[in-house]
Amino acid sequence: MAIVSGEHSGRQRRAIDMESFVNIEGDHSLLALDEPEPFTLINDAGTARTLLLCDHASRRIPRSLDDLGLDELALRRHVACDIGAGDVTRKLSEILDAPALLAGYSRLVVDCNRHLSDPTAFRAVSDGEFVPGNHDLDAVAKKSRAQAIFYPYHQAISMCLTKFRQRGVAPAVIAIHSFTPIFNRTSRPWQIGVLWDRDDRIPRPLMDKLRRIPGTVVGDNEPYSGKLPADYTIDHHAEPAGLPHVSIEIRQDLIRTPAGVERWSAILGRAFGEILANDDLYSFLDSPAES
Ligand SMILES: [Zn+2]
Repeated sequence: MAIVSGEHSGRQRRAIDMESFVNIEGDHSLLALDEPEPFTLINDAGTARTLLLCDHASRRIPRSLDDLGLDELALRRHVACDIGAGDVTRKLSEILDAPALLAGYSRLVVDCNRHLSDPTAFRAVSDGEFVPGNHDLDAVAKKSRAQAIFYPYHQAISMCLTKFRQRGVAPAVIAIHSFTPIFNRTSRPWQIGVLWDRDDRIPRPLMDKLRRIPGTVVGDNEPYSGKLPADYTIDHHAEPAGLPHVSIEIRQDLIRTPAGVERWSAILGRAFGEILANDDLYSFLDSPAES
């Protein structure tokens, strides 16, 4: 898995660490034959020049990992998945007629939006929740999870992007996440956050449109920053290739119910619909300006 621009030595170092995972002998039988694929691809033939991604769509744990030692209550929490994000991704795929890839297993098994060498890729503790099955994980166990879930998901993303490029299209890449309303006992004021780093082609018009909705507080790189080096999916697939991209974070209490999913998918569908209709968007950004 070669990566990224040579200017970030930290990222380069992580890329080399990832190579070392590939060379470790591991157990290839993490997923049983009757268990779901490591990713779900929907609307593959969609007409939009856009790929939707949801890294944290699922709370599923492979049977062989015995729920990682967690009880039902813990697995229902946001630590296992981004509540509502998968549903919004599916709905947006329909509204925009865009293909979408959703990771098929919980981020507690392996976080598909982290470099594998990042300490948070296999969390032993997440928001106060101790994860017994991740305690003292050795390299072989990590490799097994990476081979079964992380690599197939990211290879699927690469293949989808290649298909666009074979048609002469520089596709837009949109990642959908959700965040908890309260963190460290503090209420988060934003309904939605727009995460970005150097490519403002989608983020700026998107924030402008969302801010016009009365009562909407839009986070500009809140509650997380798109500049954080730990994130993986956008940093690996979209940014170095110069593809137009953005990550969205939606507050979980707003998309916990089907009605909330409908409402926020419609809001995002309208906003993205106008932005993605601009033919000038679909070009490779050669040398993003340093921020
Ligand atoms: Zn997420």
